[in-house]
Amino acid sequence: MTRRLTKSLALIIYIIISTSLPSASLELQSKYARLICPDDDTLQMLNNRLFVSRFRFMSTEKRPMTIEDEVTGKIDLITLKVQEILDMFPPHLQYTFSICESMEQVNNHFVRINSSDLKRPGFYAPSTDTVYVSARHARIQVVAHEIGHVVVDKYFKIRPPMKIHELLSQFVEKHITD
Ligand SMILES: [Zn+2]
Repeated sequence: MTRRLTKSLALIIYIIISTSLPSASLELQSKYARLICPDDDTLQMLNNRLFVSRFRFMSTEKRPMTIEDEVTGKIDLITLKVQEILDMFPPHLQYTFSICESMEQVNNHFVRINSSDLKRPGFYAPSTDTVYVSARHARIQVVAHEIGHVVVDKYFKIRPPMKIHELLSQFVEKHITD
């Protein structure tokens, strides 16, 4: 085989592989979370739906904020507020926040992990240490509720019963906008 032909073949194979793979996702690191997101549009959608009062006022950054700065800042602020509401501060808190395009995508993750259906805009899976939220349906209450599960899960050495877990997250959901 000539060098030229080998090169062309390699190029064709590369094109086939790269177009058949899902588009590269974004990954951002905040103080508390590693955020993963399929694309810029989904990140923008989450940012638009997450109205965090006093967020800009509380920001100490002088330079104009990017969407990435806003989203990571909001997730950190919500995570901090959730810990304050619960009065639980697990040391070295870190988790993954997976931003999904739709509830269907959230459901796909749920089915993969739990082998059953979920009709909710978000959930937390302790097995992957990940919060999954639909950007299209995100509200601060939904995000805070799921982060509530993260904080409770990491605070107790022995996981409390599911009912208690749920009550604590509902408490967070109720008070996140106080
Ligand atoms: Zn819950």
